[in-house]
Amino acid sequence: MTIKLQDRNPEYWEKLFQMTANVVKQMSDEFERGVKWEYSVPLIDFKRETSGINRSPFITRQGKGCILCMPVGFLKWMDDFVIDMQEYLGSNNGFCVNNGKNDISLWILQNWISWITQHELGHLFNGHYVGDTREWDDWNKFEHFDTLNNDDRLSFEYDADMYAANSFFSGLAYAINIDNRLKNWGEKYFNDLGFIFFVLFTIMEERDPNPLLHLAAYDRLMIFLLRGFKIFETTNNTKPVKEFKAFQLGMARSVMAIGDQGKNLLDKVKNFNHDKITQSIKVLVENKYHIRRLYQMKSDWLRDTNALFYKN
Ligand SMILES: [Zn+2]
Repeated sequence: MTIKLQDRNPEYWEKLFQMTANVVKQMSDEFERGVKWEYSVPLIDFKRETSGINRSPFITRQGKGCILCMPVGFLKWMDDFVIDMQEYLGSNNGFCVNNGKNDISLWILQNWISWITQHELGHLFNGHYVGDTREWDDWNKFEHFDTLNNDDRLSFEYDADMYAANSFFSGLAYAINIDNRLKNWGEKYFNDLGFIFFVLFTIMEERDPNPLLHLAAYDRLMIFLLRGFKIFETTNNTKPVKEFKAFQLGMARSVMAIGDQGKNLLDKVKNFNHDKITQSIKVLVENKYHIRRLYQMKSDWLRDTNALFYKN
């Protein structure tokens, strides 16, 4: 059976941008409540970025708040893989979320974009862009972000990825309790997530094998997986043994679909190094980032350092 994919016409792209804008708006609304935002402009605005076709999404200052810029070229780059994935899956049992037959491009992209956006917001809410006063107006670090030394920059990247895993999986843990569709899909849903996220990490590795502005893809994968399920466990107060297993099976299915590039990424996972994590905690705590948060999440990896990662 083949999945009938939507035409990539102007309406499709408009839907995709609307969906992305909604993801950002929902996050902005939530944080505006959280930090008791008192300005008339949104805390996080959204912009489709047409310049710089090879750019990745980024966050920048705009008046009192900030703006999440999503490059058109970046969405198109992701969308190509979303098409490939579904063409492959059309003849390989598909996903539970579409009964193996409907186009689920927007569902895949929504998940990817949420996590990517959460990473960017992690830099903001973890206090990387502001000075010591923790005031919203104090953005003095913003302009200097690119000139940080390597240790600082890497630590910020760990900090933002930990935040993104936290944000994504705590959201998922809440959703699973209230959304009947998710409840019914159960483990199968986690299998689907494992599949699509392994694809994302593989294409990121391929796009930029030695990233300067982000962690290596295998680091990001491991943090998403291990920190994510730890947060899932803490949020729901139960060990997600079956879900964790299903997610990994989804990843394995993804490796089979992708072939050598997938195996290559999996092979690199052994380089995941806890010393680098310990080092980053040290740098961040020395610079007081555990108390410079603009928004304090329930679990902060700089505070609960003894049980950072999920263990079966
Ligand atoms: Zn980053």
